[in-house]
Amino acid sequence: METGPEASSYLVPFLLAAAVAAAALSAVAWLLARRATELRRIRAALGTLGGDHADPVRGARKAADEAARLDTALSELRAILEHAPAGIIAIDGLDRIITINPAAAGLLGTEGRPAEGRLLGEIARSPELASLIAQARAAARSAESELELSSEAGMHRAGCTVVPLSDAVGSAQLLLVLEDRTELRRLEALRTEFVANVSHELRTPITSIRGYAETLVESFELQPEAARFARTILRSSARLGAIIDDLLLLSGLEEPSARESITTSPVRLAGVVAEAVEQATAGARDKGITIEPHIDPCLWVNGNAGLLAHAVGNLVSNAVKYGPSDSVVRVDAAAEGDAAVIAVTDRGPGIPEVHRARLFERFYRVDRARSRESGGTGLGLAIVKHVAQVHGGSVSVESRTDSQHGSTFRIRLPLVVESTARNFPLPEAGPNDRGESRRTA
Ligand code: ADP
Repeated sequence: METGPEASSYLVPFLLAAAVAAAALSAVAWLLARRATELRRIRAALGTLGGDHADPVRGARKAADEAARLDTALSELRAILEHAPAGIIAIDGLDRIITINPAAAGLLGTEGRPAEGRLLGEIARSPELASLIAQARAAARSAESELELSSEAGMHRAGCTVVPLSDAVGSAQLLLVLEDRTELRRLEALRTEFVANVSHELRTPITSIRGYAETLVESFELQPEAARFARTILRSSARLGAIIDDLLLLSGLEEPSARESITTSPVRLAGVVAEAVEQATAGARDKGITIEPHIDPCLWVNGNAGLLAHAVGNLVSNAVKYGPSDSVVRVDAAAEGDAAVIAVTDRGPGIPEVHRARLFERFYRVDRARSRESGGTGLGLAIVKHVAQVHGGSVSVESRTDSQHGSTFRIRLPLVVESTARNFPLPEAGPNDRGESRRTA
């Protein structure tokens, strides 16, 4: 078929249109290819962020939300660190400070100066802190103690907990939480001093009231009513005297300087228990109570025999006081690992769980009326606790309130290994094993 001039006039615009269409198509194809590359790149990036592969736009939005959430969490964390009343320090495996909050900086006197990157030992001079850190690292778990911190801010007493951070962060990193107890300890020392001073002042007049009341009761023919008054004065002054003696003893156990003057030596526990039982014998006889000692004769501790006998005596006399008539009080002393354990068991009414945590506080009583009636000072168990602590030991109670079980109080003391004890110049073993030659630290 021939193409005439008419046909060629149609062909030119048709070819032009086809060329434009082809160019447009290749442009669109190029654009699509570019977009696909971009999308692949975004998808790869989102893949690293854990984003949504199927929908890159949604994934990008999610990533942005996540970043904003992390930012808010970081700001919150910063605000918590800034305003926390406790001092918080994070250190690395070489004891270099990674983070320190203002409370810790205040405690260590480095406010306003960057402490990050410095060695902890440079700003907090405390061998106790260094050994606490070493202890937490060695055991890979928290260690806690109260220590003296000497720094540019002066001397502080601080409760310190050292927490190893999890493996995710790096197990060599540690978190230190410091609680400033300087003021608390200062006030406690003031209170102890005040109580000791008041007790001293009261002791003399009360001794004299007691003496005169005794003379009235024993040496005068009084009218029956006057005799009753005199007996009441005698009883009350004796109780006041006992409270004052216990308060003075407690002050001595609490005050660091008084503590240092406590003399210690190797003490045989059999002698201590014999003395304690002896103190409670009269009270036990009055109630028909039998005291049964089961004592390992080879137990030695390093301590003050008088104080230890006083503490065990308090437990035995409580067991007699709160045990029923005609019952048995058992006193055991045995070695448990590297500790000597003295246990006093009664068949009394037991102590309800709710009271047990506060039982060793001064003047805490389960039954106030009964304690007063039996002449108790309310300080006996507080003394037991302090005596145990002064000796590096502890005290605990186990009790059941269902009938016939009663309570067991235990004093746990560091045991002196027999062969070591023999190296000391030991006094003769007897009921009063008191060799008072050395001092506690
Ligand atoms: P108190 O002089 O009042 O006996 P303590 O400090 O020795 O003071 O004891 C505190 C309180 O603990 C007592 O008032 C008593 O309520 C309770 N308690 C102590 N020992 C026993 C015991 N063996 N059985 C029951 N309760 C006890």
